Amino acid sequence: MARIYFHLPILFSRGLSYDKPNFFNVPKLTATLPWAMSHEPCALSHEPCTLSHEPRAMSHEPSAMSYIVSVRIFKLFLAFNFCLSTFVFYLLSFVFYLITMIMYKSSFFYPILITCIILSYSVEVSSQKIAFTRQDTLRGSITPERAWWDLKYYHLDIIVNPADSTIEGTNTITYRVISPSRRLQIDLQEPMKLINAMMDNKVLGFSRDGNVYWIDITEKQEQGKIYSMVLSYNGKPKVSENPPWEGGITWKKDKNGIPFVASACQGAGASLWWPCKDHMYDEPDSMLISVNVPENLTDVSNGRLRSVVRQKNKTRTYNWFVSNPINNYGVNINIGSYLHFSEIYNGEKGPLDCDYYVLKEDLEKAKIQFKQAPLMLAAFEHWFGPYPFYEDGYKLVEVPYLGMEHQSSVTYGNGFKNGYLGTDLSNSGWGLKFDFIIIHESAHEWFANSITYEDAADMWIHESFANYAENLYVEYYYGKEAGSEYVLGTRKNIKNDKPITGYYNVNNEGSGDMYYKGGNMLHTLRQIINDDDKWRDILRGLNNNFYHQVVKGSQIENYLSEKTGINLKYFFDQYLRDIRIPVFEYYIEGNELTFRWNNCVPGFDMPLKIFISGIEKTINPKSGFTTLKLDIDNAVIKTDPGFYVASLNLTGK
Ligand SMILES: [Zn+2]
Repeated sequence: MARIYFHLPILFSRGLSYDKPNFFNVPKLTATLPWAMSHEPCALSHEPCTLSHEPRAMSHEPSAMSYIVSVRIFKLFLAFNFCLSTFVFYLLSFVFYLITMIMYKSSFFYPILITCIILSYSVEVSSQKIAFTRQDTLRGSITPERAWWDLKYYHLDIIVNPADSTIEGTNTITYRVISPSRRLQIDLQEPMKLINAMMDNKVLGFSRDGNVYWIDITEKQEQGKIYSMVLSYNGKPKVSENPPWEGGITWKKDKNGIPFVASACQGAGASLWWPCKDHMYDEPDSMLISVNVPENLTDVSNGRLRSVVRQKNKTRTYNWFVSNPINNYGVNINIGSYLHFSEIYNGEKGPLDCDYYVLKEDLEKAKIQFKQAPLMLAAFEHWFGPYPFYEDGYKLVEVPYLGMEHQSSVTYGNGFKNGYLGTDLSNSGWGLKFDFIIIHESAHEWFANSITYEDAADMWIHESFANYAENLYVEYYYGKEAGSEYVLGTRKNIKNDKPITGYYNVNNEGSGDMYYKGGNMLHTLRQIINDDDKWRDILRGLNNNFYHQVVKGSQIENYLSEKTGINLKYFFDQYLRDIRIPVFEYYIEGNELTFRWNNCVPGFDMPLKIFISGIEKTINPKSGFTTLKLDIDNAVIKTDPGFYVASLNLTGK
């Protein structure tokens, strides 16, 4: 998915809480204090931190000392906030007010300012508390009723009626018994309804529990044996008001008044429109998707078109076969008056069929714009290894929404323009050199469709790598510096509002920072490795090692630690599970450079490339101060901008 978050000014208003103030992030907080108000929040700008040249940041000044102490207390206070009731933290706010009153005896300004900030943030925090329900657990966890059977095959066989926005049909689920049980969980979201369940021509009992159906199997289930169940269902599936961010079906018409219909359901889940095991951990080995539509329409789904069967009632059934494992949200229907053109791409695994489906009025534009598809394949096969679904081909399919990474059937609605709907998300200029949807969504064929997260909390596996892939595409065609400018340019979109990882087992995604911050985290990792060939080997290795697998985030983290030979535990703790930007704090005394990491998780020990009066050096800051003797006096220190960190010259000299 391509999710875009624009950075708005910091506002302490609940009504404008979408862009939340970030007080865990010391550099940004620094920028909000009066003595530093002229600064850009350094960690969000393209440039290395500008704080280091400001005299007011001197640690020996009383105001800066007080500030540092205040920040510490403040961070502790915020940590408690998450656990306390509104009453308690309002009480604590008052206590804090008294403390700061004592600290700033002669002035009321700072105590009042800080207390106001706390109270504003407290309102934010209390409004953000997430309450998960039993339904979230049923949707997001591997329940006992899911765990005992292993998906082998789906045959989704449906009639799509654009005239009344309904879907009806069957899904035949074939599974292998892992450990025998009799009750099975099937997900189908309201208002869709299961109307019948059959096994071996016998009707099965079932009951509804919100978006879940409990199916009770009468036949004895034997370990290792394969069984099939036919589920009949119908209904008016949820209509998406904002696809692809809000899951649902889009029922539109093209310029000629002909139905133009598409599904998109990442997050909400495939059970929004068909009954299935709606958890990412289990994928069928293959799938047949049969879609019956009025005869003037074409359905394009995943995989290869096996046949088109003309029916007597002026309809046609399109049979699409996916010969690889497929994740649930990757399954899609796209229905319209499509024209088709195709080409062969000769890639790393031989000839790859590339098929393109667009509306008639867009055919000529598409023939030009989709020339980027083979360019994309060349770049990503270079960086990531072979396209992961040669057997199913590659498709671009026009849809009435922005786009989505549907497996072997990438959907496209970017207006046949470069950039993201014609804009450059990086402000570097490089974002207009490619069609964002073709590049970003197709990158998901490697990171999402081949390597798939098990839990939505680890969605960074999809989005951080797909975001990072954008700059690798730029680098492939325009050089390393261009790629770097692109990824650094996207930092302006980072919010540091909450951790990149979400809550596990409740189908919860983390922060939208999984895109730009995730991409910059990977770019930072590349700087640490400092070996481009090795980095490319690791990217290709990931795709080889986890080819067509569902993975936990920890597996990817461990793989990267193992292959880089660096313990990246604290690195990932910092960037995935914390919202602070590490601050490289240092000072120069004569020919000595003293430095450390601050504003970071305990144990954070990332190596850092710095420039000492222009001369490159990699150092290993820890949380305690380290002193290094330099060859010159009063050197000027700069950090490598490729690292997503802030820096603070404690003396300002
Ligand atoms: Zn995406």
